[in-house]
Amino acid sequence: MWKRRKGARPARILPLELCDLCAATFPQDEAKRGYVPDSSSVHPTNDGYDGLRALTTCGDEHFEELRRQYLRRPYVQEELWAAKITRVLTTGPPTLTMDQLGCRTGLHEPELRRAIAWHNERMRRYAAEE
Ligand SMILES: [Zn+2]
Repeated sequence: MWKRRKGARPARILPLELCDLCAATFPQDEAKRGYVPDSSSVHPTNDGYDGLRALTTCGDEHFEELRRQYLRRPYVQEELWAAKITRVLTTGPPTLTMDQLGCRTGLHEPELRRAIAWHNERMRRYAAEE
């Protein structure tokens, strides 16, 4: 068993953050944080944050740069719905019917169908590019 020297203080590990833009590490309390619209992002547990991406950066300059990048990215409603469906299909009990999928995503059937069609079209495009 490893024993601590008498009187030695345990090493204090300061929690660090990682800049989403430059990957620099810095103390948590120096982080610049915020949300930007992003239809590819859903929150793991709170659907009130769906369609928003949490950003953490090393300062105002990198936050602005990243915010501008996300604002140039198209916001696609079907992409958000597809992300909600993926969350349901990858967590919790299995979902077997459209009704169950609707209940758990909060989406109506036409939205589910548009999201699935969008997802399948994207998969076909990726497959064709390979
Ligand atoms: Zn940075």
